[in-house]
Amino acid sequence: MGSTVSETKTYLNYVNGEWTSSSAGQTEPSLNPANRGDVVGYVQVSAPEDLNKAAAAAKEAAGTWRKLAGAVRGDYLYKVSNLIEARIDDIAATMTREMGKTFPEAKGETARGIAILRYYAGEGMRKIGDVIPSTDSEALMFTTRVPLGVVGVITPWNFPVAIPIWKIAPALIYGNTVVFKPAQETAVTAAKIIECFHEAGLPKGVLNFVTGRGSVIGQGIIDHPDIQGVTFTGSDTVGKQVGLGALKRGAKYQLEMGGKNPVIVANDADLEQALEATISGAFRSTGQKCTATSRVIVQSGIYDTFKEQLLAKVKTIKVGDGLKADTWMGPCASESQLNTVLHYIDKGVQEGAWLLCGGNRLAGEEYESGWFVEPTVFEGVERGMTIAQEEIFGPVIALMKVETIQEALDIANDVKYGLSASIFTKNIGSMLEFIRDMDAGLVRINAESAGVELQAPFGGMKQSSSHSREQGQAAIEFFTSIKTVFVKP
Ligand code: NAP
Ligand code: MG
Repeated sequence: MGSTVSETKTYLNYVNGEWTSSSAGQTEPSLNPANRGDVVGYVQVSAPEDLNKAAAAAKEAAGTWRKLAGAVRGDYLYKVSNLIEARIDDIAATMTREMGKTFPEAKGETARGIAILRYYAGEGMRKIGDVIPSTDSEALMFTTRVPLGVVGVITPWNFPVAIPIWKIAPALIYGNTVVFKPAQETAVTAAKIIECFHEAGLPKGVLNFVTGRGSVIGQGIIDHPDIQGVTFTGSDTVGKQVGLGALKRGAKYQLEMGGKNPVIVANDADLEQALEATISGAFRSTGQKCTATSRVIVQSGIYDTFKEQLLAKVKTIKVGDGLKADTWMGPCASESQLNTVLHYIDKGVQEGAWLLCGGNRLAGEEYESGWFVEPTVFEGVERGMTIAQEEIFGPVIALMKVETIQEALDIANDVKYGLSASIFTKNIGSMLEFIRDMDAGLVRINAESAGVELQAPFGGMKQSSSHSREQGQAAIEFFTSIKTVFVKP
């Protein structure tokens, strides 16, 4: 045991261009959810003082960074993307070991991170304002954009590379400096991304990285007087705390939170397409995506066939360690995540839904030291049941039978969330009805609920977000302020 511990690397904070230990002198292990004996690395449990130093460094660096040409800031992002690309296998394998998604999924996510960096590198040379005709014929009136200053970035564990990058890259390209607190659960993967920024030669203080408790470092970011904007992705409960805290001191905030995403399968759906997309949307990443499919609303004419073929396919899903080539679905990311999933499954049974398959923690040698759960399908789920209302964030779906598309839409909208939603149909009328009436930030026709493209706006309606959007050119709205300029000679 002693030798394993000494061989396992300790990852540090990154403050003002230097790798530093927590001033509290405390670290903790980051564990592999497929095998809890495997310590991925030790990460810092930081104190408020560490955050203060990071915020001071970011504040100090902001003046010079914002004055650089966008193209010069873009060059740094491009260099970072190349460094990540050169290490994609190591970063992806670390992600798999640290949070459990399969290696191909982890590699796909890392590739997305690279593409996001390149997209925003180009953003440094695109337009940031408009000329607006003044009523004074001698004057020139136009808008320009300025950075907020220091931005705090707080991220969850489910996309440990893509989410930090889709916040940090636009923050930097538009001239902000950053204090980043990743989920402690995936802090090693995050540290490997920060290493690439360091090696790209990013000026000191422009990006700072402090790991630790959400209640200490996350809350510290919310409350910090030198941080002008906070961008958060994570749970509903914490998100609302972030919003309230930021509002209280007049800071800008952006929240991306949960989902309870429906898929509607119409009588005229392409059955094979709907099945593949439902399974992929529901069970990839072990259901731990904010856009994961969790309610499957099926029209009665196709219900029995759909159900039968769905169950046949779900039963063939190979669950296991995400580093093994034959694994299709990895473990839950942590013990607490597994317990949450099992709690919801219990709740479903208690409230009278029928368990069609799965429902248990996996047992046996391959599964003993990890947090594995079976892919689970319920039917007879009523719209008011807990499993039809609350985000589970695990490999669990609720089948719901309806007569009409109108009834399907009614149920689909009958939740507090509105992140993403899909319909499978060949009928143009049903498609248009869905596009018009579905209350979700992402509506997808004949495609799974969990697809996202980095160049398009991303975010939810209702309680899924602060009604803001991330990614693509929409990111400029959060990371900059508009200045209206009037010039009279
Ligand atoms: P979480 O518990 O809300 O944590 C998110 C981040 O907030 C972590 O870095 C966490 O730190 C930090 N945090 C915890 N308590 C805090 C506090 N009091 N003040 C400030 N920060 C605090 O969420 P999670 O369990 O990691 O992630 C799962 C959730 O994320 C799901 O609800 C999912 O739907 C949502 N999600 C949404 C999107 C989207 O774009 N809509 C995308 C992915 C995930 P720790 O390191 O201490 O945990
Ligand atoms: Mg872990």
